[in-house]
Amino acid sequence: MKRNVEISFRESVDLMFNRAAALTDLSPGLEEKIRVCNATYTVRFGVRLRGHIHTFTGYRAVHSEHMEPVKGGIRYSMSVNQDEVEALSALMTYKCALVEAPFGGAKGGLCIDPRQWEEHELEQITRRFAFELIKRDLIHPSQNVPAPDMGTGEREMAWIADQYARMHTTDINARACVTGKPINAGGIQGRVEATGRGVQYALREFFRHPEDIARAGLTGTLDGKKVIVQGLGNVGYHAAKFLSEEDGAIVTGIVEHDGGLHSETGLNIEAVRNWIATHGGITGYPDAVYLPDGAILLEDECDILIPAAVEGVINLSNAERIRAPLIIEAANGPVTAGADEILRNKGTVIIPDLYANAGGVTVSYFEWVKNLSHIRFGRMQRRQEESRHDLLLTELERLSKDKNLGWTLSPDFKERYLRGADELELVRSGLDDTMRTAYQSMREVWHGRQDVDDLRTAAFLVAIWRVAASYRAKGL
Ligand code: GLU
Repeated sequence: MKRNVEISFRESVDLMFNRAAALTDLSPGLEEKIRVCNATYTVRFGVRLRGHIHTFTGYRAVHSEHMEPVKGGIRYSMSVNQDEVEALSALMTYKCALVEAPFGGAKGGLCIDPRQWEEHELEQITRRFAFELIKRDLIHPSQNVPAPDMGTGEREMAWIADQYARMHTTDINARACVTGKPINAGGIQGRVEATGRGVQYALREFFRHPEDIARAGLTGTLDGKKVIVQGLGNVGYHAAKFLSEEDGAIVTGIVEHDGGLHSETGLNIEAVRNWIATHGGITGYPDAVYLPDGAILLEDECDILIPAAVEGVINLSNAERIRAPLIIEAANGPVTAGADEILRNKGTVIIPDLYANAGGVTVSYFEWVKNLSHIRFGRMQRRQEESRHDLLLTELERLSKDKNLGWTLSPDFKERYLRGADELELVRSGLDDTMRTAYQSMREVWHGRQDVDDLRTAAFLVAIWRVAASYRAKGL
Protein backbone atom coordinates (compact mmCIF):
# COMPACT_ATOMS: atom_id res chain seq x y z
CA MET A 1 0.00 0.00 0.00
CA LYS A 2 1.45 3.34 -0.99
CA ARG A 3 0.90 6.12 1.49
CA ASN A 4 0.93 9.62 0.13
CA VAL A 5 0.11 11.49 3.30
CA GLU A 6 2.68 11.72 6.06
CA ILE A 7 1.35 10.68 9.45
CA SER A 8 2.55 12.03 12.80
CA PHE A 9 5.73 10.79 14.48
CA ARG A 10 3.79 8.87 17.12
CA GLU A 11 1.53 7.29 14.52
CA SER A 12 4.63 6.39 12.57
CA VAL A 13 6.16 4.56 15.55
CA ASP A 14 2.82 2.88 16.25
CA LEU A 15 2.60 1.73 12.65
CA MET A 16 6.04 0.21 12.82
CA PHE A 17 5.04 -1.46 16.09
CA ASN A 18 1.84 -2.79 14.49
CA ARG A 19 3.70 -4.33 11.57
CA ALA A 20 5.75 -6.36 14.01
CA ALA A 21 2.95 -7.05 16.49
CA ALA A 22 0.89 -8.58 13.68
CA LEU A 23 3.54 -11.30 13.47
CA THR A 24 3.22 -12.22 17.15
CA ASP A 25 0.62 -14.26 18.99
CA LEU A 26 -0.05 -11.52 21.54
CA SER A 27 -3.64 -11.09 22.59
CA PRO A 28 -5.13 -7.88 21.18
CA GLY A 29 -5.46 -6.63 24.75
CA LEU A 30 -1.80 -7.07 25.59
CA GLU A 31 -0.77 -5.66 22.22
CA GLU A 32 -2.78 -2.53 22.92
CA LYS A 33 -1.39 -2.30 26.46
CA ILE A 34 2.17 -2.37 25.13
CA ARG A 35 1.55 0.12 22.32
CA VAL A 36 -0.13 2.92 24.24
CA CYS A 37 1.72 5.60 26.17
CA ASN A 38 0.79 5.18 29.85
CA ALA A 39 0.79 8.85 30.80
CA THR A 40 2.02 12.23 29.68
CA TYR A 41 2.42 15.04 32.13
CA THR A 42 2.30 18.57 30.75
CA VAL A 43 3.57 21.45 32.82
CA ARG A 44 3.46 25.17 32.21
CA PHE A 45 5.56 27.28 34.52
CA GLY A 46 6.65 30.85 34.67
CA VAL A 47 10.16 32.16 35.25
CA ARG A 48 11.00 35.82 35.76
CA LEU A 49 13.75 36.65 33.31
CA ARG A 50 14.93 39.97 31.83
CA GLY A 51 12.25 41.81 33.78
CA HIS A 52 9.32 39.72 32.47
CA ILE A 53 7.60 36.48 33.40
CA HIS A 54 8.16 33.94 30.63
CA THR A 55 5.92 30.89 30.48
CA PHE A 56 7.46 27.61 29.34
CA THR A 57 5.74 24.36 28.39
CA GLY A 58 7.33 21.05 29.24
CA TYR A 59 6.41 17.37 29.08
CA ARG A 60 7.38 14.06 30.56
CA ALA A 61 5.82 11.05 28.84
CA VAL A 62 5.93 7.62 30.44
CA HIS A 63 5.29 4.99 27.81
CA SER A 64 5.70 1.72 29.67
CA GLU A 65 6.30 0.81 33.30
CA HIS A 66 6.78 -2.92 32.79
CA MET A 67 10.15 -2.19 34.37
CA GLU A 68 11.08 0.70 36.62
CA PRO A 69 12.62 3.15 36.67
CA VAL A 70 11.52 4.40 33.30
CA LYS A 71 14.29 5.96 31.26
CA GLY A 72 14.69 8.51 28.52
CA GLY A 73 16.20 11.86 27.76
CA ILE A 74 14.97 15.42 28.12
CA ARG A 75 14.99 17.44 24.92
CA TYR A 76 15.17 21.23 24.57
CA SER A 77 13.74 22.35 21.27
CA MET A 78 11.05 24.64 19.92
CA SER A 79 9.48 21.70 18.09
CA VAL A 80 8.84 19.67 21.26
CA ASN A 81 5.20 18.64 21.59
CA GLN A 82 3.13 15.89 23.13
CA ASP A 83 3.04 13.72 20.02
CA GLU A 84 6.82 13.89 19.76
CA VAL A 85 7.62 13.02 23.39
CA GLU A 86 5.13 10.16 23.28
CA ALA A 87 6.70 8.76 20.11
CA LEU A 88 10.16 9.10 21.63
CA SER A 89 9.06 7.50 24.90
CA ALA A 90 7.70 4.50 22.99
CA LEU A 91 11.01 4.16 21.17
CA MET A 92 12.75 4.20 24.57
CA THR A 93 10.65 1.24 25.74
CA TYR A 94 11.59 -0.85 22.71
CA LYS A 95 15.20 0.35 22.74
CA CYS A 96 15.74 -0.61 26.38
CA ALA A 97 14.13 -4.01 25.83
CA LEU A 98 16.29 -4.68 22.78
CA VAL A 99 19.58 -3.91 24.52
CA GLU A 100 18.42 -5.43 27.82
CA ALA A 101 18.67 -2.24 29.84
CA PRO A 102 16.25 -2.93 32.71
CA PHE A 103 14.05 0.11 32.21
CA GLY A 104 10.66 1.13 30.96
CA GLY A 105 10.46 3.92 28.39
CA ALA A 106 10.02 7.64 28.98
CA LYS A 107 10.91 10.95 27.39
CA GLY A 108 10.74 14.58 28.33
CA GLY A 109 10.92 17.82 26.52
CA LEU A 110 10.85 21.54 27.03
CA CYS A 111 9.63 23.91 24.36
CA ILE A 112 12.57 26.27 24.28
CA ASP A 113 15.31 27.46 21.97
CA PRO A 114 18.34 27.10 24.24
CA ARG A 115 20.40 29.46 22.05
CA GLN A 116 18.11 32.33 22.98
CA TRP A 117 19.11 32.23 26.63
CA GLU A 118 22.20 32.93 28.70
CA GLU A 119 23.68 30.14 30.76
CA HIS A 120 22.42 31.50 34.08
CA GLU A 121 18.93 31.87 32.61
CA LEU A 122 18.99 28.32 31.30
CA GLU A 123 19.98 27.17 34.76
CA GLN A 124 17.01 28.93 36.30
CA ILE A 125 14.64 27.47 33.69
CA THR A 126 16.09 23.96 34.02
CA ARG A 127 15.94 24.00 37.80
CA ARG A 128 12.34 25.16 37.70
CA PHE A 129 11.36 22.49 35.16
CA ALA A 130 13.19 19.87 37.23
CA PHE A 131 11.42 21.09 40.38
CA GLU A 132 8.03 20.55 38.71
CA LEU A 133 8.96 17.00 37.66
CA ILE A 134 10.75 16.06 40.90
CA LYS A 135 7.85 17.04 43.14
CA ARG A 136 5.67 14.56 41.22
CA ASP A 137 8.33 11.81 41.27
CA LEU A 138 8.73 12.21 37.51
CA ILE A 139 12.43 12.45 38.25
CA HIS A 140 13.44 9.82 40.81
CA PRO A 141 16.27 7.23 41.04
CA SER A 142 13.89 4.30 41.29
CA GLN A 143 11.02 5.60 39.17
CA ASN A 144 12.03 7.96 36.41
CA VAL A 145 15.58 8.73 35.31
CA PRO A 146 16.14 11.35 32.59
CA ALA A 147 19.28 11.85 30.49
CA PRO A 148 20.52 14.25 27.82
CA ASP A 149 18.87 14.47 24.43
CA MET A 150 18.79 17.12 21.70
CA GLY A 151 19.59 20.55 23.12
CA THR A 152 20.69 19.26 26.52
CA GLY A 153 23.94 17.82 27.85
CA GLU A 154 26.07 17.27 30.93
CA ARG A 155 25.49 20.79 32.22
CA GLU A 156 21.70 20.48 32.36
CA MET A 157 21.96 17.02 33.92
CA ALA A 158 24.20 18.41 36.68
CA TRP A 159 21.60 21.11 37.45
CA ILE A 160 18.84 18.50 37.56
CA ALA A 161 20.88 16.22 39.86
CA ASP A 162 21.63 19.12 42.17
CA GLN A 163 17.99 20.21 42.21
CA TYR A 164 16.94 16.68 43.16
CA ALA A 165 19.58 16.52 45.91
CA ARG A 166 18.32 19.82 47.35
CA MET A 167 14.79 18.46 47.48
CA HIS A 168 15.84 15.03 48.86
CA THR A 169 18.63 15.87 51.26
CA THR A 170 18.69 12.43 52.90
CA ASP A 171 18.47 10.28 49.78
CA ILE A 172 21.78 8.44 49.55
CA ASN A 173 20.99 7.46 45.95
CA ALA A 174 20.14 10.97 44.83
CA ARG A 175 22.78 10.99 42.09
CA ALA A 176 21.05 8.09 40.34
CA CYS A 177 18.05 10.35 39.61
CA VAL A 178 19.52 11.38 36.26
CA THR A 179 22.28 10.12 33.95
CA GLY A 180 24.62 11.86 31.54
CA LYS A 181 26.10 13.96 34.37
CA PRO A 182 29.62 15.39 34.25
CA ILE A 183 32.24 13.10 35.74
CA ASN A 184 32.72 15.32 38.80
CA ALA A 185 28.99 15.25 39.55
CA GLY A 186 28.56 11.48 39.51
CA GLY A 187 28.86 10.82 35.78
CA ILE A 188 30.69 7.98 34.08
CA GLN A 189 33.58 7.94 31.62
CA GLY A 190 32.44 7.50 28.03
CA ARG A 191 28.84 8.71 28.38
CA VAL A 192 29.24 11.75 26.13
CA GLU A 193 30.65 9.68 23.26
CA ALA A 194 28.36 6.71 23.96
CA THR A 195 25.67 7.11 21.31
CA GLY A 196 28.19 7.82 18.54
CA ARG A 197 30.39 5.01 19.80
CA GLY A 198 27.36 2.72 19.74
CA VAL A 199 26.75 3.63 16.09
CA GLN A 200 30.34 2.65 15.32
CA TYR A 201 30.01 -0.66 17.19
CA ALA A 202 26.70 -1.35 15.43
CA LEU A 203 28.31 -0.84 12.01
CA ARG A 204 31.33 -2.93 12.98
CA GLU A 205 28.97 -5.74 13.96
CA PHE A 206 26.99 -5.39 10.74
CA PHE A 207 30.20 -5.67 8.73
CA ARG A 208 31.13 -8.91 10.55
CA HIS A 209 28.31 -10.69 8.69
CA PRO A 210 28.96 -11.19 4.97
CA GLU A 211 25.35 -12.25 4.41
CA ASP A 212 24.11 -8.96 5.83
CA ILE A 213 26.63 -6.89 3.89
CA ALA A 214 25.44 -8.64 0.73
CA ARG A 215 21.81 -7.83 1.57
CA ALA A 216 22.78 -4.16 1.29
CA GLY A 217 24.59 -4.87 -1.99
CA LEU A 218 27.91 -3.95 -0.41
CA THR A 219 31.18 -5.84 -0.08
CA GLY A 220 34.24 -5.73 2.13
CA THR A 221 34.68 -3.86 5.39
CA LEU A 222 34.09 -0.37 6.70
CA ASP A 223 37.47 0.63 5.33
CA GLY A 224 37.02 2.99 2.39
CA LYS A 225 33.23 3.16 2.66
CA LYS A 226 31.73 6.52 1.74
CA VAL A 227 29.62 7.97 4.48
CA ILE A 228 27.23 10.93 4.58
CA VAL A 229 26.27 12.25 7.99
CA GLN A 230 23.28 14.45 8.67
CA GLY A 231 23.77 16.51 11.83
CA LEU A 232 27.14 17.06 13.47
CA GLY A 233 25.81 17.31 17.02
CA ASN A 234 27.00 15.05 19.80
CA VAL A 235 25.88 11.81 18.11
CA GLY A 236 26.78 12.61 14.51
CA TYR A 237 30.12 14.11 15.46
CA HIS A 238 31.28 11.13 17.50
CA ALA A 239 30.01 8.57 14.99
CA ALA A 240 31.71 10.38 12.07
CA LYS A 241 34.91 10.92 14.04
CA PHE A 242 35.28 7.30 15.17
CA LEU A 243 34.31 5.81 11.81
CA SER A 244 36.77 7.98 9.91
CA GLU A 245 39.62 7.95 12.41
CA GLU A 246 39.43 4.32 13.50
CA ASP A 247 37.71 2.33 10.74
CA GLY A 248 38.93 3.99 7.56
CA ALA A 249 35.50 5.24 6.46
CA ILE A 250 35.50 8.37 4.29
CA VAL A 251 33.00 11.02 5.29
CA THR A 252 32.13 12.58 1.93
CA GLY A 253 29.19 14.65 3.11
CA ILE A 254 27.95 16.52 6.16
CA VAL A 255 24.50 18.06 6.30
CA GLU A 256 23.89 20.83 8.83
CA HIS A 257 21.12 23.35 9.50
CA ASP A 258 22.74 25.96 7.26
CA GLY A 259 23.71 23.74 4.32
CA GLY A 260 25.88 20.84 3.30
CA LEU A 261 29.58 20.13 2.79
CA HIS A 262 30.88 17.74 0.20
CA SER A 263 34.34 16.34 -0.43
CA GLU A 264 35.07 13.20 -2.44
CA THR A 265 38.36 12.69 -0.61
CA GLY A 266 36.79 12.96 2.82
CA LEU A 267 36.05 15.72 5.30
CA ASN A 268 38.11 16.35 8.40
CA ILE A 269 35.52 15.91 11.14
CA GLU A 270 37.51 17.69 13.83
CA ALA A 271 38.11 20.69 11.56
CA VAL A 272 34.44 20.94 10.58
CA ARG A 273 33.34 20.65 14.19
CA ASN A 274 35.74 23.42 15.22
CA TRP A 275 34.49 25.59 12.36
CA ILE A 276 30.88 25.12 13.53
CA ALA A 277 31.91 25.93 17.11
CA THR A 278 33.45 29.27 16.11
CA HIS A 279 31.16 30.28 13.23
CA GLY A 280 27.82 28.86 14.35
CA GLY A 281 27.43 26.80 11.17
CA ILE A 282 29.30 25.23 8.26
CA THR A 283 28.95 28.23 5.94
CA GLY A 284 32.36 29.44 4.80
CA TYR A 285 34.21 26.23 5.68
CA PRO A 286 37.16 26.32 3.28
CA ASP A 287 38.12 22.73 2.48
CA ALA A 288 34.95 21.43 0.83
CA VAL A 289 32.22 22.22 -1.66
CA TYR A 290 29.41 24.10 0.08
CA LEU A 291 25.78 23.46 -0.87
CA PRO A 292 23.22 25.92 0.46
CA ASP A 293 20.51 23.24 0.23
CA GLY A 294 22.15 20.64 2.44
CA ALA A 295 19.23 18.19 2.35
CA ILE A 296 20.11 17.40 -1.25
CA LEU A 297 23.20 15.62 0.07
CA LEU A 298 20.98 12.99 1.67
CA GLU A 299 20.24 11.85 -1.88
CA ASP A 300 23.88 11.73 -2.90
CA GLU A 301 25.67 8.55 -3.80
CA CYS A 302 27.38 6.94 -0.80
CA ASP A 303 27.65 3.57 0.91
CA ILE A 304 26.28 4.52 4.29
CA LEU A 305 23.87 7.30 5.20
CA ILE A 306 23.78 8.34 8.85
CA PRO A 307 20.87 10.60 9.79
CA ALA A 308 21.93 11.84 13.23
CA ALA A 309 19.72 14.84 13.93
CA VAL A 310 15.94 15.12 14.04
CA GLU A 311 13.04 12.86 13.15
CA GLY A 312 11.37 12.70 9.76
CA VAL A 313 14.27 13.86 7.55
CA ILE A 314 13.81 10.92 5.22
CA ASN A 315 10.20 11.10 4.26
CA LEU A 316 7.74 10.75 1.40
CA SER A 317 9.25 13.73 -0.38
CA ASN A 318 12.77 12.30 -0.76
CA ALA A 319 12.70 8.55 0.03
CA GLU A 320 12.48 7.54 -3.61
CA ARG A 321 15.66 9.45 -4.42
CA ILE A 322 17.78 8.14 -1.53
CA ARG A 323 20.66 6.26 -3.13
CA ALA A 324 22.50 4.92 -0.08
CA PRO A 325 22.11 1.13 0.11
CA LEU A 326 22.63 1.19 3.89
CA ILE A 327 21.09 3.65 6.35
CA ILE A 328 21.90 3.63 10.03
CA GLU A 329 19.47 5.64 12.15
CA ALA A 330 21.65 7.43 14.68
CA ALA A 331 18.76 9.82 15.38
CA ASN A 332 15.37 8.76 16.72
CA GLY A 333 12.77 8.36 13.98
CA PRO A 334 14.69 9.90 11.06
CA VAL A 335 12.80 7.73 8.55
CA THR A 336 9.01 8.12 8.51
CA ALA A 337 6.80 5.05 8.20
CA GLY A 338 5.92 6.01 4.61
CA ALA A 339 9.58 6.44 3.65
CA ASP A 340 10.42 3.19 5.41
CA GLU A 341 8.00 1.35 3.13
CA ILE A 342 9.46 2.93 0.00
CA LEU A 343 13.02 2.13 1.08
CA ARG A 344 12.15 -1.44 2.04
CA ASN A 345 10.67 -1.98 -1.40
CA LYS A 346 13.85 -0.60 -2.96
CA GLY A 347 15.93 -3.08 -0.94
CA THR A 348 17.67 -0.45 1.19
CA VAL A 349 18.93 -1.96 4.43
CA ILE A 350 18.03 0.18 7.45
CA ILE A 351 19.69 -0.39 10.80
CA PRO A 352 16.86 0.95 12.95
CA ASP A 353 17.01 3.65 15.61
CA LEU A 354 15.88 1.47 18.48
CA TYR A 355 19.08 -0.50 17.99
CA ALA A 356 21.44 1.95 16.28
CA ASN A 357 21.32 4.74 18.86
CA ALA A 358 20.94 2.56 21.95
CA GLY A 359 24.52 3.24 22.98
CA GLY A 360 23.42 6.29 24.93
CA VAL A 361 20.96 4.54 27.17
CA THR A 362 23.28 1.57 27.53
CA VAL A 363 26.00 3.72 29.08
CA SER A 364 23.31 5.56 31.05
CA TYR A 365 22.48 2.19 32.53
CA PHE A 366 26.12 1.74 33.55
CA GLU A 367 26.13 5.22 35.10
CA TRP A 368 22.96 4.49 37.05
CA VAL A 369 24.47 1.23 38.37
CA LYS A 370 27.66 3.12 39.27
CA ASN A 371 25.66 5.71 41.20
CA LEU A 372 23.72 3.07 43.09
CA SER A 373 26.86 1.10 43.93
CA HIS A 374 28.72 4.27 44.93
CA ILE A 375 31.97 3.04 43.43
CA ARG A 376 33.74 3.61 40.15
CA PHE A 377 33.98 0.62 37.81
CA GLY A 378 37.35 -1.11 38.05
CA ARG A 379 38.37 0.46 41.36
CA MET A 380 38.63 -2.87 43.20
CA GLN A 381 40.05 -5.04 40.39
CA ARG A 382 42.38 -2.88 38.36
CA ARG A 383 45.63 -3.25 40.31
CA GLN A 384 44.90 -6.86 41.16
CA GLU A 385 44.47 -7.56 37.46
CA GLU A 386 47.77 -5.81 36.79
CA SER A 387 49.66 -7.81 39.40
CA ARG A 388 48.32 -11.12 38.05
CA HIS A 389 49.42 -10.16 34.56
CA ASP A 390 52.78 -9.20 35.97
CA LEU A 391 53.05 -12.57 37.69
CA LEU A 392 52.48 -14.35 34.39
CA LEU A 393 54.97 -12.26 32.42
CA THR A 394 57.65 -12.57 35.10
CA GLU A 395 57.20 -16.33 35.06
CA LEU A 396 57.41 -16.47 31.26
CA GLU A 397 60.59 -14.41 31.31
CA ARG A 398 62.08 -16.64 34.02
CA LEU A 399 61.27 -19.77 32.00
CA SER A 400 62.79 -18.27 28.88
CA LYS A 401 65.95 -17.40 30.80
CA ASP A 402 66.23 -20.71 32.69
CA LYS A 403 65.72 -22.81 29.57
CA ASN A 404 67.76 -20.52 27.35
CA LEU A 405 64.84 -20.02 24.99
CA GLY A 406 65.82 -16.48 24.14
CA TRP A 407 62.23 -15.19 24.23
CA THR A 408 61.78 -11.49 24.64
CA LEU A 409 58.42 -9.83 24.84
CA SER A 410 58.06 -6.71 22.79
CA PRO A 411 58.00 -3.72 25.19
CA ASP A 412 54.78 -2.48 23.65
CA PHE A 413 53.03 -5.79 24.26
CA LYS A 414 54.23 -5.93 27.84
CA GLU A 415 53.03 -2.46 28.61
CA ARG A 416 49.64 -3.01 27.01
CA TYR A 417 49.10 -6.43 28.55
CA LEU A 418 50.07 -5.33 32.02
CA ARG A 419 47.69 -2.42 32.18
CA GLY A 420 44.44 -3.19 34.06
CA ALA A 421 41.24 -1.85 32.54
CA ASP A 422 40.08 1.58 33.70
CA GLU A 423 36.50 2.78 33.75
CA LEU A 424 36.50 4.02 30.16
CA GLU A 425 37.76 0.69 28.84
CA LEU A 426 35.18 -1.19 30.89
CA VAL A 427 32.39 1.06 29.65
CA ARG A 428 33.46 0.58 26.03
CA SER A 429 33.72 -3.15 26.51
CA GLY A 430 30.23 -3.30 28.05
CA LEU A 431 28.85 -1.16 25.26
CA ASP A 432 30.51 -3.23 22.54
CA ASP A 433 29.17 -6.43 24.04
CA THR A 434 25.68 -4.94 24.30
CA MET A 435 25.68 -3.77 20.68
CA ARG A 436 26.95 -7.11 19.39
CA THR A 437 24.48 -9.16 21.41
CA ALA A 438 21.51 -7.00 20.47
CA TYR A 439 22.46 -7.12 16.78
CA GLN A 440 22.66 -10.88 16.89
CA SER A 441 19.25 -11.20 18.51
CA MET A 442 17.84 -8.98 15.76
CA ARG A 443 19.53 -10.73 12.87
CA GLU A 444 18.45 -14.16 14.10
CA VAL A 445 14.88 -13.04 13.55
CA TRP A 446 15.73 -11.23 10.30
CA HIS A 447 17.26 -14.31 8.75
CA GLY A 448 15.30 -16.92 10.63
CA ARG A 449 11.77 -15.93 9.74
CA GLN A 450 10.22 -15.96 6.30
CA ASP A 451 7.76 -13.24 7.23
CA VAL A 452 10.44 -10.77 8.38
CA ASP A 453 12.43 -9.03 5.69
CA ASP A 454 13.82 -6.00 7.49
CA LEU A 455 15.86 -5.28 10.59
CA ARG A 456 13.33 -2.85 12.01
CA THR A 457 10.57 -5.43 12.19
CA ALA A 458 13.07 -7.90 13.65
CA ALA A 459 14.12 -5.36 16.29
CA PHE A 460 10.52 -4.56 17.19
CA LEU A 461 9.71 -8.27 17.45
CA VAL A 462 12.54 -8.95 19.89
CA ALA A 463 11.55 -5.91 21.94
CA ILE A 464 7.84 -6.75 21.95
CA TRP A 465 8.48 -10.34 23.05
CA ARG A 466 10.59 -9.11 25.94
CA VAL A 467 8.14 -6.44 27.08
CA ALA A 468 5.29 -8.95 26.77
CA ALA A 469 7.26 -11.46 28.85
CA SER A 470 7.66 -8.84 31.60
CA TYR A 471 3.98 -8.03 31.60
CA ARG A 472 3.08 -11.74 31.67
CA ALA A 473 5.47 -12.30 34.58
CA LYS A 474 3.61 -9.56 36.42
CA GLY A 475 0.38 -11.46 35.84
CA LEU A 476 -1.11 -9.11 33.26
N1 GLU B 1 18.23 10.56 24.90
C1 GLU B 1 18.92 9.33 24.63
C2 GLU B 1 18.08 8.40 23.76
O1 GLU B 1 17.23 8.85 23.03
C3 GLU B 1 19.46 8.68 25.88
C4 GLU B 1 18.45 8.23 26.86
C5 GLU B 1 19.04 7.79 28.19
O2 GLU B 1 20.26 7.70 28.30
O3 GLU B 1 18.26 7.53 29.10
O4 GLU B 1 18.28 7.22 23.72
